[in-house]
Amino acid sequence: MAFKRISDLGDLTGKTAVVRVDINVPMAGGEVADDTRLQAVKPTVDAVAAAGGRAVLLAHFGRPKGQMVPEMSLKAVVPALARVLGRSVGFAELGDALPTGDVVLMENTRFQPGEEKNDPALAQQFAALGDVYINDAFSCAHRAHASTEAIAHLLPSAAGETMAAELEALEQALGNPQKPVAAVVGGAKVSSKLTVLENLVEKVDHLIIGGGMANTFLYAQGHSVGASLCEKDLKGTALAIMDKAATTGCTVHLPSDVVVAREFKAHAPSENKAADAVLGGEMILDAGIDTVAELAAVLKASKTLVWNGPMGAFEMEPFDMATVALAQAAAKLTDAGALLSVAGGGDTVAALAHAGVKDSFTHVSTAGGAFLEWMEGKTLPGVAALG
Ligand code: ADP
Ligand code: MG
Repeated sequence: MAFKRISDLGDLTGKTAVVRVDINVPMAGGEVADDTRLQAVKPTVDAVAAAGGRAVLLAHFGRPKGQMVPEMSLKAVVPALARVLGRSVGFAELGDALPTGDVVLMENTRFQPGEEKNDPALAQQFAALGDVYINDAFSCAHRAHASTEAIAHLLPSAAGETMAAELEALEQALGNPQKPVAAVVGGAKVSSKLTVLENLVEKVDHLIIGGGMANTFLYAQGHSVGASLCEKDLKGTALAIMDKAATTGCTVHLPSDVVVAREFKAHAPSENKAADAVLGGEMILDAGIDTVAELAAVLKASKTLVWNGPMGAFEMEPFDMATVALAQAAAKLTDAGALLSVAGGGDTVAALAHAGVKDSFTHVSTAGGAFLEWMEGKTLPGVAALG
């Protein structure tokens, strides 16, 4: 994944950088409820300023679908953005003369019907705002939109600081990793992560399958899964993935023991038992204690870990056990410098936070869709355009 950086754009004295950012922040009562995404913008704005330039920011906000929706105006974000950046922020609509201010924030790109169509004419208008283009929105890079893709072909382009850090972490995890590489893929369904599994069996040494999707694999191997979440129609697909793994030298790890309950709720009476001893009416809600020990040993013998999807129904205690224990094992190895750990996915990030280890992982991606497409081995158009 070759891409240019801000430093490759040279001296920006007197120049304007059009910077695509992700400031699609949650709002509550007209105020920014969580400014994590605003903070992620600061390194790039600072780097542009240090190179002598001025940043004009492009961003989307909500899903206005190509029309002006007043409640989705980015104007509401200006005060919080100015506070986080420590700079004055002017606001403009496309077609306005650029206002004064250290930084300018442009109105919601998705008010323009051409944005999601990757319209070259709109990209031309965006490009006319400056002299160079910087994309700092990895979370939007899986979409070819006018402000993420077409514009990159019109100006000298580079990845912003936050995007570059993310791309580097991903490259170290799957692109060019230190071996052995272990992958944890969990979550509810095989069907939503089929392409991820198919890509990973070709790339990793250990494929750890957990969560609801492990049930489909156990079922495919002839085990009874009782009343568990299970996609029985994907039996053939699961077996094909196992067969492919055998040819690529990837070891697939399924739970050898599981935690079962008869009710899908927190603190339901539960039992830890062998994976081949599940009775009718029982639901597998987590991996078992022996499995956790086996998997911790796999992580210990690995140099790189990439993780998407929880090992069990972690939102309900005690079915968070395997997810928490494995996350803590990975965090400990990472802290000791023995493991490079990269994780992503909405529920995965929540699970790592629940386990108290979010800050110990080498990199935690908050880019849902873009992270999954990267795990699927897809080329992200917003990244490819920076090459
Ligand atoms: P992510 O958002 O990180 O990509 P997913 O959305 O694929 O993860 O999966 C998370 C969901 O999977 C969680 O809601 C969790 O409760 C559910 N899950 C995990 N294991 C099981 C299981 N054994 N039975 C039912 N649901 C499960
Ligand atoms: Mg999810």
